[in-house]
Amino acid sequence: MSLPNPCWFLALVAPVLGMAEVSKDPPGRIAVYLGVEQQASAQSLDQMKREVETLLSPAGIRVDWRFIEQGRNAEVDHSHLYVLRMRGNCTTERIHLLFSELGPYGDVIALGSASTVDHQIQPFGRLECDPLRRSLAASLRGESPNKRDAVFGKVLGRVMAHELFHMMTGQTKHSDHGLFQSSQKVRDLATRSFSFTPAEQRALRVAVQ
Ligand SMILES: [Zn+2]
Repeated sequence: MSLPNPCWFLALVAPVLGMAEVSKDPPGRIAVYLGVEQQASAQSLDQMKREVETLLSPAGIRVDWRFIEQGRNAEVDHSHLYVLRMRGNCTTERIHLLFSELGPYGDVIALGSASTVDHQIQPFGRLECDPLRRSLAASLRGESPNKRDAVFGKVLGRVMAHELFHMMTGQTKHSDHGLFQSSQKVRDLATRSFSFTPAEQRALRVAVQ
C-alpha cells in the first residue's frame, strides 16, 4: 500500500542554517519529472527549478527537468529518476481574494509528501499548491504579479528539495535544523536563506553515485 509521508510545515521552529559546502566531486545527474494536475505559472515553475538547482548544486547534483506528459527521455539513461506531482492551483492568480481567518502563517499545513511502501520511501512525491496559496495570500497581496510568482516558486522549490532529499537518500528521520527539518515556518521558507548541511550534501552525493 502506498501511503503519503507528509512533511509538516508549521510555525514552531526557527532553523539554524548550515553553510553550503562546495563539491569537488564529478557532478551527478538526476531526472525530475513534473506532473501539473491543474495549472502552474511558467514563472513560478522556473523559479522553483532554479531554487532546487541552487540547493542541490553544492552536492554536485544537476537536474534534468521533464514533464510527465512528455514521456521518458529516451536519449538519457537516468538511473536516478523522481516524479513530483503538483496538486491544486499552482499559480498566484487571484491569490489576493483568498482569505484565511487563521491569518497568513497561522495554519499548520502539509506542503509536500513522499510516498512510502512498506516503510520504504519511493521516488514519487507530491507538492500541495492550494494550502501554499492560502498561506501566502495575505503576504503577497500588495506585491506585483512577478514578485508573487517568484516567491511562490521559491517556496515550492524549497519544499521540493526537501522531498527530493527523502526520495534520494531514503531517509525518513528529519534533521533538527535547516531545510530537512520536519517543520518550517512558511514565512521563513519565503524569506530566509536555506541550504542543506554539509552532512546532508554528503548523503546526497552518495545517493547519486
Ligand atoms: Zn520531510
